[in-house]
Amino acid sequence: MVPDYLPTRSGDRPAIGARKAMTDVFDRKTRSRIMSNIRGKDTKPEIEVRKALHKRGFRYRLHVKDLPGRPDIVFPRYNVALFVNGCFWHRHPGCRHASTPSSNEKFWNDKFERNVARDRRNKAMLETAGFRVAVIWECETRGDRLDPTIERMTRWMTGVEDAR
Ligand SMILES: [Zn+2]
Repeated sequence: MVPDYLPTRSGDRPAIGARKAMTDVFDRKTRSRIMSNIRGKDTKPEIEVRKALHKRGFRYRLHVKDLPGRPDIVFPRYNVALFVNGCFWHRHPGCRHASTPSSNEKFWNDKFERNVARDRRNKAMLETAGFRVAVIWECETRGDRLDPTIERMTRWMTGVEDAR
């Protein structure tokens, strides 16, 4: 059986009792992985990204609840919805941080599949609503990768460069 109480993406909270149930089902490493995802919005990568974009003069809204998938950062002026995604939970293609835990493999694969499908649906709905949708992966915000990432993002937003 696949537990339903796990957070589906950053920002969601588990139901009361989720912690207790998890101790029965998962080993320690897996639990800590799940719990670290539960901290939710305002993750470090997200904060780094918006600080950098703000510094360049971009203005935005955060965690817009009434939009599909509650995008992390929305730029009304550019009709851009930006997600800062964790590589593990959202399955960054080809990224070493998108590994699959060796225990409970079926659980993880089901979960990842749902996450990816949900992301895809949200993207499609946002595009239908007239947004351009971008993803910045967590690993692209680390250390000296942040600057080029922000650079590429600003060019894309302002239309100097086509979508990647
Ligand atoms: Zn990655």
